[in-house]
Amino acid sequence: MKQRIAVLGSTGSIGVNTLDVIARHPDRFEVAALSAGSRVEPLLAQCVAFRPAVAVMADPGAARELAARLDAEGLRTRVLAGAAALEQLVAGEGVDTVMAAIVGAAGLGSCLAAARAGKRLLLANKEALVVGGELFLDAVATGGATLLPIDSEHSAIFQSLPEDPATWADRVDRIILTASGGPFRDRAPETLRDVTPEQACAHPNWVMGRKISVDSATMMNKALEVIEARYLFGLPPERLQVVIHPQSVIHSMVQYRDNSVVAQLGTPDMRVPIAYGLAWPERITSGAAALDFSALADMSFESFDSRRHRERFPGLQLAWDALAAAPGTTAVLNAANEEAVAAFLDRRIRFDQIHAVNLATLDALVPSKPKALADLLAIDAQAREAALRAIGRLA
Ligand code: NAD
Ligand code: MG
Repeated sequence: MKQRIAVLGSTGSIGVNTLDVIARHPDRFEVAALSAGSRVEPLLAQCVAFRPAVAVMADPGAARELAARLDAEGLRTRVLAGAAALEQLVAGEGVDTVMAAIVGAAGLGSCLAAARAGKRLLLANKEALVVGGELFLDAVATGGATLLPIDSEHSAIFQSLPEDPATWADRVDRIILTASGGPFRDRAPETLRDVTPEQACAHPNWVMGRKISVDSATMMNKALEVIEARYLFGLPPERLQVVIHPQSVIHSMVQYRDNSVVAQLGTPDMRVPIAYGLAWPERITSGAAALDFSALADMSFESFDSRRHRERFPGLQLAWDALAAAPGTTAVLNAANEEAVAAFLDRRIRFDQIHAVNLATLDALVPSKPKALADLLAIDAQAREAALRAIGRLA
């Protein structure tokens, strides 16, 4: 039987790459559903190409327009609107696998629904795990879901770990996440205040959505990834390490008790981790180019621990700080950062003030332990309010 896949965030960078891999394997995969935020045109084109049974848009007005346009094309795709419809859809009979590629905490509800329903869950949406934390993992366990990482670092780590998760804590000494350092790796920290959204979104190695591009420039992306790794692999935070590797050839590594290091390498192309997640435990073609070792001039590494890097990327440390604080604090950090990045992209605050907003929000709020999705949503909302107040003071 073909794997029936729902691609959430299908019009985004990960979504498009996912459909590219799926299209290479029509014998294995079928697109059961597509979902996007508010832009009708790209989702319409995807519906025409992939003929899903269902399409869901977050925005009701956009959904109505999509329905009319599909009708005019003579397509029978059913159109739904809103987050509740999406949650129902991913938990339903017609879907085996969910590619979670919505950006931000907006993807949490659909991830939890897929986890509870025991689906195969391909997680690109790292913010959902950073917000959901232990509750997310509980949903995966009770639902009997299969959680597979799509983030390139976490896919690399997963590929470098032994097959049996029960052996990880004992055999592994540490997990080493690589970071490219983004567009400002060499920039004088004093000049980061002048960075424009265009400069922050121009990543040297990867083409990605705007939010994650800004996160890569501040290294908050790596902070979110450290938290993501903590939850995915269960190692204590002090055994998670970040090393700067500008070429993005090694996507991350696992160091074992005997100091043997296992790494995963490849060209910087998200179709590799996507194909791995889709086919796991098998392997399929991804469309990515092979590494050309003769053209690979050098691989270099820098410790993150230099004073200049700490000044440049003060946000990275917040990962360990938030993990050490009250449960729910990673959700506070994520919400603050989402609001700060949006304010920066809107030119309401400066680039270096993203960190100030994150710090102010963490200071303003000590969450009580979340016990259900409603608690997480309340923490998320409170943190956004605190972040917006901080943004108001700075703007
Ligand atoms: P993107 O901005 O290119 O795409 C986001 C997608 O989500 C779009 O399809 C958009 O329509 C949809 N969306 C946005 N808000 C929504 C809402 N409220 N409800 C429903 N749908 C909504 O982002 P991206 O770069 O593809 O990243 C997606 C996720 O994958 C992020 O969590 C990111 O951190 C993660 N990720 C991305 C990459 C990458 O290379 N792009 C790599 C690793 C992880
Ligand atoms: Mg990553």
